[in-house]
Amino acid sequence: MPEGDVLRLTAERLGAALGGSPLVRAELRWPSVAGADLVGRTLVESTAYGKHLLLRLDAGPNLTPHGAGPRTGAAPPTRGTVRPGESPRDTTEQVGESRNTSAVPRPGVPPRSDEASRSARQEASSARSGRLGSTTPASRAGGWTLHTHLRMDGFWRVHRTGSREAAGRSPAVRAVLATSTWTCVGWHLGMLDLLRTRDEHTLLAGLGPDVLADAFASSGPTAHGGVDEGVRRLLVAPQRPVCVALLDQRVVAGLGTIWMAESLFAERLWPWTPVGVLDARRVRGLLLTASRLVGASVTVARRAGLGAVERRVHGRHRGPCVRCGTPIALGSTRGQDVRPDQGALERVVYWCPRCQAPGA
Ligand SMILES: [Zn+2]
Repeated sequence: MPEGDVLRLTAERLGAALGGSPLVRAELRWPSVAGADLVGRTLVESTAYGKHLLLRLDAGPNLTPHGAGPRTGAAPPTRGTVRPGESPRDTTEQVGESRNTSAVPRPGVPPRSDEASRSARQEASSARSGRLGSTTPASRAGGWTLHTHLRMDGFWRVHRTGSREAAGRSPAVRAVLATSTWTCVGWHLGMLDLLRTRDEHTLLAGLGPDVLADAFASSGPTAHGGVDEGVRRLLVAPQRPVCVALLDQRVVAGLGTIWMAESLFAERLWPWTPVGVLDARRVRGLLLTASRLVGASVTVARRAGLGAVERRVHGRHRGPCVRCGTPIALGSTRGQDVRPDQGALERVVYWCPRCQAPGA
């Protein structure tokens, strides 16, 4: 299932495709926001926080896309029920392999006008920053944020506006956003919300620090804190297995089963170690490793695609450990002997029984 790295790349690619030009089409096929009128608004920022995608739109146009006359931009953009402040519902995560963002153009790649390309690059750059609270003047002035979550199977695709694929006729399509050049189609999205950009903090209030945030390692003053806040949150429940704690988005945001397993492997930690037996220094090292691995995944994927990212343990059941040759084992968050097919399919744990022995 999509983790923070996938969300970050998705944000960059949607920013590159849509940034800087007014929307000419905006369909939100989700009951609470189905009546929203976003046509004419411009994407000013595309970013991700953990597994949450935030598309920030400006306050509204002075003119309609067809120049038909002034619009105030002040009226709520929806006739449906907006539910700002609804807390993210995910706290732990499930497994899945839907890394279907390969069809999405890279930032700056779409053949656009010079001005649009520059704008797209700026949007991609701001998307990479991953910082919350870095709202633009436009958003502070009354912009709106379209918040989506991919959940298990969601993904976005980008197509040429006017192409057959851009029609988005499938019932599995939950959102279609288009400029005159590119159309972004959101498939199987697990959540859509529309809220004032200034209210984003209410939406994300329950989440821990984003492992991909620039300031994560430095513990600098950010909206959600950095690694030290993650350590504090992780140690709150001392009996909890460390593999479970890492998946809890209230501890740190952005990890799923892949980077949980890879981080524990890198740190040679038995995945079911109760967090209470780990000292703060060890936990800090673990979280910094997780941040580094997810960040490296983003870097590699920008260059070579998500499939190019090396996994040393996840998905390598029965394969030889790259360190010691022992066959990689497969358990679940419920225990090392509870195989996913015994009722915990959603949270698999790959590990090396030798390198990551209990008490090691
Ligand atoms: Zn090993």
